[in-house]
Amino acid sequence: MAYSTEKLSEEKVFKDPVHRYVHVRDRVIWDLIGTKEFQRLRRIKQLGTTYLTFHGAEHSRFNHSLGVYEIVRRIVDDVFDGRPEWHQEERLLSLCAALLHDLGHGPFSHSFEKVFDLDHEHFTQAIIVGDTEVHQILSKVDESFPKKVAEVIAKTYENKLIVSLISSQIDADRMDYLQRDAYFTGVSYGHFDMERILRVMRPKEDQVVIKKSGMHAVEDYIMSRYQMYWQVYFHPVTRSAEVILTKILHRAKHLHEQFYAFKIHPIHFYSLFEDELTLEDYLKLDEAIILYYFQMWQEEDDPILSDLCRRFMNRNLFKYVEFEPAKEYKKLAELSNLFRKAGLDPEYYLVVDSSSDLPYDFYRPGEEEERLPIHLLLKTGEVRELSRESEIVDAISGKRRTDHKLYFPADLIADDTFKRNIKKQIRTILET
Ligand code: ZN
Repeated sequence: MAYSTEKLSEEKVFKDPVHRYVHVRDRVIWDLIGTKEFQRLRRIKQLGTTYLTFHGAEHSRFNHSLGVYEIVRRIVDDVFDGRPEWHQEERLLSLCAALLHDLGHGPFSHSFEKVFDLDHEHFTQAIIVGDTEVHQILSKVDESFPKKVAEVIAKTYENKLIVSLISSQIDADRMDYLQRDAYFTGVSYGHFDMERILRVMRPKEDQVVIKKSGMHAVEDYIMSRYQMYWQVYFHPVTRSAEVILTKILHRAKHLHEQFYAFKIHPIHFYSLFEDELTLEDYLKLDEAIILYYFQMWQEEDDPILSDLCRRFMNRNLFKYVEFEPAKEYKKLAELSNLFRKAGLDPEYYLVVDSSSDLPYDFYRPGEEEERLPIHLLLKTGEVRELSRESEIVDAISGKRRTDHKLYFPADLIADDTFKRNIKKQIRTILET
């Protein structure tokens, strides 16, 4: 029997709190789950520093990847199978791309990407086509198969129907993470009727469309996504932890460049600091390693590095005030001066952070949101973009909301005898 169609003698199931069970029958999928590159995802949290805000949010990218695989499996096996527009030979490709779509994520992805100018999508591609266990398994299907999986994930694969299963504005990726993140954070947003949405999905030429009768379930999904962004993903406390994490990485890099004598040498960071990161180095990084350094660096002699690490490990985070960078740049300059006078380096202790989201967007060529829009399938067989049919979606379409905050260590500018005057001035400015 060909490896691509080989089935396990008995179905394997993973117990899952969101989908109840994740079912695996295909030998290829089972083998991919067993690779060390996929197992590494167990040691990378899905929501980065969010566990410091919502203590339940300790779930990993491993959980989420299995969930995305399960949703795609249900779409192709239960909904698309047997329909004339669906090609069964693309089934395994869809499942592999779903399972592996986040394979290149590193520890605390967002912060690492920002500080070291990395791109997890680049690493996903590199793992799939590089010298890895994942690559060996995919190559056993056929020689061109790893490249096809990489193309689906990179959204360049010729059959856009397959791409849209994994990256559109209503794809298996988003449907899994919204529900999973809601479950683990314990918030009441993020829930929607996925069963209903799966039932009304149809393959239509080069995309997945939704039967018009399922429009209200889709509206609910879009609103829950909007709520999750502002209530969970952009939570100001999570961002505070991210600000500190980012500053730790900056500080460690800076010290390395200054030939500072670390008590605990950051050997896992050397190639990152020197911009010579190889795939092999990258795959050694996970959150256990990073937290080891943060734990140990609490004892370093450099006061900034040790203070920031203590803050991160013990959750003594920065406080924040609302901030308008375009209007308040003078205030920021004034504060920076006062911080310096008070002995606090504003580079590390006075930080503006901005977050923004687009709840739903129809296609506008050249804009940064590259996910495909949602199309409804009308009874007449005609296809229409969602915001033209739904007033609710139309009302929020294309509206980017941005939020800026200014972060600082309130405890260090609390009133004490040291530099009391300056600290008082800082507080007065922050309060106005
Ligand atoms: Zn994902």
